Amino acid sequence: MSTEATLALLGTQAFIDGRWQPGDSAFDVINPASRERLASVEQPSLAQAQAAIDAAERALPDWRDRPAHERSALLRRWFDLIIANQEALARLLTSEQGKPLAEARGEVRYGAAFVEWFAEEARRVEGDIIPSAGRDRRTLVLRQAVGVCAAITPWNFPVAMVTRKIAPALAAGCSIVLKPAEQTPLCALALARLALEAGIPAGVFNVLPADSARSVEIGRLLCASTVVRHLSFTGSTEVGRLLMAQCAPTVKRLAMELGGHAPFIVFNDADLEAALDGAMLAKYRNAGQTCVCANRFLIQAGLHDAFVRGLTERTARLITGAGYEPGVQVGPLIDDAAVAKVMRHIEDARQMGARIETGGKTSGTGFVQPTVLSGVTPDMLIAREETFGPVAAIMKFETVEEAIALANASESGLAAYFYSRDLGQVWQVAEKLEYGMIGINTAAISYETVPFGGIKQSGFGREGSRYGLEEYVSLKYLCMAGL
Ligand code: ADP
Repeated sequence: MSTEATLALLGTQAFIDGRWQPGDSAFDVINPASRERLASVEQPSLAQAQAAIDAAERALPDWRDRPAHERSALLRRWFDLIIANQEALARLLTSEQGKPLAEARGEVRYGAAFVEWFAEEARRVEGDIIPSAGRDRRTLVLRQAVGVCAAITPWNFPVAMVTRKIAPALAAGCSIVLKPAEQTPLCALALARLALEAGIPAGVFNVLPADSARSVEIGRLLCASTVVRHLSFTGSTEVGRLLMAQCAPTVKRLAMELGGHAPFIVFNDADLEAALDGAMLAKYRNAGQTCVCANRFLIQAGLHDAFVRGLTERTARLITGAGYEPGVQVGPLIDDAAVAKVMRHIEDARQMGARIETGGKTSGTGFVQPTVLSGVTPDMLIAREETFGPVAAIMKFETVEEAIALANASESGLAAYFYSRDLGQVWQVAEKLEYGMIGINTAAISYETVPFGGIKQSGFGREGSRYGLEEYVSLKYLCMAGL
């Protein structure tokens, strides 16, 4: 993290009302590859967190009432600054989160794309005129900013999870208070620094870094506030449920992007090489730590053995190490708890009869060897719980109906992938899978232009695309009579 450009982006205090504010205590941000301390970040007291909500409330009327092109221009300037600083941001990201630098660069560009997209969409928050119900009247719909919003984000995409909430909120005319993950506050603070430089007005975008205990307290404050009208959360289903309950008394609007358990289905007629390419991406990006990572590989009997062989060979060749080392493809897991969970899934599967084709062990502090398991069955932990690590669990199936039943046997409904070249089968399967996003013959599905989000216990609400803006807009119906 030592380059000058990266250090220039570093923020170690809360960003409230356009100013950096010393906190009442501090916590360490750790490099997950070396376990060294990267920075000590000061966290705001609860009174300061309340001051951030107050600042967002004060900033709202001016921001909301500006012509859309002004908000658009400021977002565009923020995008330009993110792009101008993309290498420094990518280095900061790898330092605090661990992913390989090439992936970090990709995330910064992906994250920036949301700012560019919503800078453009800001100018298209249009209303409707509805054919009138009576001669003397006209009926209209206004689309207005929801108001003060709150966002709570996870550590696995410290740039993109922030921009895809903040950019649409700002585009719609909302102000927002962000509580980033305790493991990765530095990217969020760097984004705030660039937003300040871009000229985004004081109070419109506030960032409250906090350790895990203070995060819980700040979460409670944001949920209980009657000023905060909307909470957008990305994280675990467990915390999502808790936040929904905490928001019930104030009847807040919510967007919940929660855990996934993606099935990755390969049918007999699939292009095996393409399926293997997709499998590597769907499984090992970010060391398996994404909510859209494949958690179950369902392979039809005709291709099963060849798929297991191919995936095992490719997996065994992966280079694991610190994200900033050249050539590394799989970085560390975020912390010891993550390693312990992944090892528990491997051990449980092994004990219940799965075969370890490659990997299966930890490798130095913080790393798990990329692992392939075959003979996985639905009763194993890995077939039911989100693993969030570099472990491919393979199950065999015979019929299409069996694959769909297996794939849908999950509380989660975020992403699913399948490979087939039969057009009829493609439609049938796509329509029957109970998931919010389906990759068909591809594992690359996330873009700023499309609606990202889940169904079932993976949550609700969409991020990115024109649908993503709807989260931050309220409809107001006007009935004008006496005309
Ligand atoms: P993960 O298991 O991936 O770390 P979490 O759901 O625990 O996911 O964390 C996602 C985000 O939610 C982080 O910013 C974290 O600080 C925050 N968080 C966790 N627990 C709470 C809580 N009780 N109230 C508010 N925020 C929370």
